[in-house]
Amino acid sequence: MPELPEVETIRRLVERHLVGRRIIGVDLRLPKLMRDSPCPDLSVIAGQTIAAARRQAKVLVLDLSNGWSLLVHFKLSGQLAIERPDGSRDVAGHPVPDPTGPFPHKATHLELRFDDGTIVWYSDIRQFSWLRLMPTGDVEAALTAFGFGPEALDEAVVLWALKAVAPRRRIPIKTVLLDQTVIAGLGNIYADEALFAAGIHPGTPANEVSRPRLAKLARSIPWALEQGLAQGGAKIVNNKARPIDGFPAVHGRQGEPCFTCGTTVEKIRVGARGTYFCPTCQKPRLKKHV
Ligand SMILES: [Zn+2]
Repeated sequence: MPELPEVETIRRLVERHLVGRRIIGVDLRLPKLMRDSPCPDLSVIAGQTIAAARRQAKVLVLDLSNGWSLLVHFKLSGQLAIERPDGSRDVAGHPVPDPTGPFPHKATHLELRFDDGTIVWYSDIRQFSWLRLMPTGDVEAALTAFGFGPEALDEAVVLWALKAVAPRRRIPIKTVLLDQTVIAGLGNIYADEALFAAGIHPGTPANEVSRPRLAKLARSIPWALEQGLAQGGAKIVNNKARPIDGFPAVHGRQGEPCFTCGTTVEKIRVGARGTYFCPTCQKPRLKKHV
């Protein structure tokens, strides 16, 4: 679930509250989270200061003062909670554990303590996420190896990427949007929302999306991500959206009326992924010129 807006929200929280702070305690309760890590022992980060927080696609990179970096991929259900000494708390990522509930939760696998009393809890109910500790100098090569496509926040870049790929693919357009090597950062929520905003049925073969629709989609993708960023991550709990100002418009709204036309929002499967759409606003259509 954490997609680009959720991971970017976490990055901004880390930048605001943790950069410049020294880690004084590390308690990793689920060692298997250190997956394919050049250094498998996370406890060595104790004593280090967080120097910077950056992000590429859905990977968060925390640069440490000793020339090492911690990479975090939140996968389906990673969540970061930051509790300051005064008890105030910021939580971003997956909505479980309950951000207002007690921490550590049974799904909390990592606790970091900082020199000013701030505590960070990293939780993951499904345990698919991973942590990787490596020399900062090796991070660029590691990120390159993932083969991420260009960032989905720039309309011109997104349009270029879609024009290069969509006309050559017969798979559903939604499946193309989820391919991180085409555009990086989109997941199930924002792909559904961008397709809704562009009026494209998610099952449309990519090579049958007309050029004007593709241009509209290229505008809708950064727009949808910005909506999520503005909300500090989309509010979806137990697969049910809690829309703010009409966003999310379709994802997590099966059986509810479309905000635009009143038609009941439907859920189907596209490329094995649960997919939400409005049958009226997103009618299947073919290229006009073929
Ligand atoms: Zn509609």
